[in-house]
Amino acid sequence: MSNKKFDVVVIGAGPAGYVAAIRCAQLGMTVACVDEWQNKGEPTLGGTCLNVGCIPSKALLESSQLFAASRNDFPEHGINVKSVSIDVKAMNARKDKIVNELTQGINNLFKINKITRVHGHARLSPGKTVKVSDRGSPQTRETLEADNIIIATGSSAVRLERAAIMDGYIFDSAGALEFDSVPKTLGVIGAGAIGLELGSVWSRLGSEVVLLEAMETFLPAADRHISRAAFRSFQQQGLDIRLNARLLSTSVKQKKVHVTYEDTRGAQQIKFDKLVVAVGRKPNSDFLFGDEMGLEIDEREYIHVNKYCETSVPGIYAIGDVVRGPMLAHKGSEEGVMVAERIAGQESAVNYELIPSVIYTHPEVAWVGKSEHACNTAGIPVNVGAFPLAASGRAKAMGATDGMVKIVVHQETDRILGVHICGAQASELIAQAVSSMEMGASAEDIAMTVFAHPTLSESIHEAALAVHKRAIHIKN
Ligand code: FAD
Ligand code: NAD
Repeated sequence: MSNKKFDVVVIGAGPAGYVAAIRCAQLGMTVACVDEWQNKGEPTLGGTCLNVGCIPSKALLESSQLFAASRNDFPEHGINVKSVSIDVKAMNARKDKIVNELTQGINNLFKINKITRVHGHARLSPGKTVKVSDRGSPQTRETLEADNIIIATGSSAVRLERAAIMDGYIFDSAGALEFDSVPKTLGVIGAGAIGLELGSVWSRLGSEVVLLEAMETFLPAADRHISRAAFRSFQQQGLDIRLNARLLSTSVKQKKVHVTYEDTRGAQQIKFDKLVVAVGRKPNSDFLFGDEMGLEIDEREYIHVNKYCETSVPGIYAIGDVVRGPMLAHKGSEEGVMVAERIAGQESAVNYELIPSVIYTHPEVAWVGKSEHACNTAGIPVNVGAFPLAASGRAKAMGATDGMVKIVVHQETDRILGVHICGAQASELIAQAVSSMEMGASAEDIAMTVFAHPTLSESIHEAALAVHKRAIHIKN
């Protein structure tokens, strides 16, 4: 057993931890990063995001969208493809290759930045010490000491007792990225980001997909106009989203998953070939430290931190999914940068008001800032402008006319408070809204900006013009 001393030890090499480690190293600190993840038996960096989250899901979304387009959209373009079929094995191999290249890329970045990579399970000890053991072993293999510790241990899928994971039948999100064939029928518990994205993948490939969502409101965090537009669009493309559906039980009989749920009409029964449970994630804060550490944990098991991600113990920070705020990769990464820079004595901060959310469905859903409803509830007087993509020349040329752009501005100052998009490439469009809002832009600023034609971005221009009832391509 060896003892090593570093300026910083980071626990977790997901997008929060690996970014924190790299930024600390850039700032001249000696850094070790401990992570226990294994991909197919091999120690791997990148955490949930790269291995079983953002990246593999987007790879499958891309493949499945191309497949669906070749079947549904190509004929209208005059493209005749005699028979299109999906080779799920090849699709998965492409996804695995992307994951492998990106996780290897982080390994290379660690080498370039001279970050000491330690594979194993980390546990905090008093005196800013991190004890590393092999998975499942109580024996400490290595002890790391540090002036500063950054906890970035991420989150894990919430499990339901009523729908326990069962090999071949009931899966979590990681399992739903690995199906080796297209199930004829697929049930999904939870119509949040994961349910919608993974439901879309398998629906586009031919599964009949039913999403059972406990809440009566669809995507409650999104602006209501946007969530309604998205709901309509998803239903039209065949995603059967059932709201107000509370799961009662599941069982596997004759190679089918039998699901009982309750909605406004009473108890319902339905059976599927496979079932995916996507009902949220919980922070990985257990088995990490004992009471003697003095670290505070809130009632939902998040490690308690202030706005600078400082825990209740000086010199120990926590970032990413393991702390409050949206469970998003970019939120964790920005916290990583902030903490590294603050350790180096800089005055960094994260603007939590302007973290974009994106759901990578088709159309995509993206938003930043406040919804109209949230402003109304908070008593903030607002003006609103909206532009339907059906009126966009570029959207028509792309065959992507579903959705709209909506801008919410302060009635008195005209300052943009929120931008909400349902539409093709919303994930890319939202970035210009974030930049504008970071710079304190008003609707008038966007209205005065020249946008290239024909682009989807023009819809943001038109929505800003619509705030003052002077949009050109719609009736105001
Ligand atoms: P994680 O990525 O979970 O990494 C934590 C790391 O800590 C892991 O590698 C783990 O092995 C390690 N670890 C934990 N405990 C210990 C310990 N005691 N010792 C050693 N190592 C430990 N977010 C987006 O922004 N965009 C998306 O498109 C998106 N898509 C997603 C799709 C799916 C299917 C899922 C499941 C999630 C998705 N997310 C997405 C969420 C995103 O993956 C998380 O917000 C992000 O990974 C959180 O980063 P993190 O670094 O905090 O934690
Ligand atoms: P989520 O919180 O987005 O959605 C879970 C849904 O399940 C909710 O709508 C909830 O009401 C519902 N639910 C909970 N219990 C239920 C039950 N018993 N029966 C039926 N419905 C139930 O969580 P998620 O989709 O699992 O995603 C987890 C996290 O990962 C989220 O925080 C999300 O931000 C993140 N993520 C982000 C992206 C993205 O940025 N594109 C993609 C995937 C995941």
